[in-house]
Amino acid sequence: MSLADLETVWQSGDETPLPECTYDPELHTGPRLTIESTEARAAREAVAREVCLTCPALPLCELYARQARPTSGIWAGRTPAELTTHTTALEDMEVA
Ligand code: SF4
Repeated sequence: MSLADLETVWQSGDETPLPECTYDPELHTGPRLTIESTEARAAREAVAREVCLTCPALPLCELYARQARPTSGIWAGRTPAELTTHTTALEDMEVA
């Protein structure tokens, strides 16, 4: 399914659900004005991953993130490095 197809499915209902990270964006991006310890970051990212698992936008977000290749934050339950690894693995599967 393409990104455009997913967007159509996402917006075709009576109500368009909001992505879960809309309610607390810093959970997925990290704090802007303070430095986060390694432990605090790991804990925040673990919660962000759990939030992603319940997000109605997860399939759309993952497809978008695979194309956009973000450099920070948690997207579709993954860090940018994990997204790259996952995308590469999927591309390898598609070629094989
Ligand atoms: S799956 Fe994507 S849109 Fe949904 S909460 Fe996670 S980062 Fe936000």
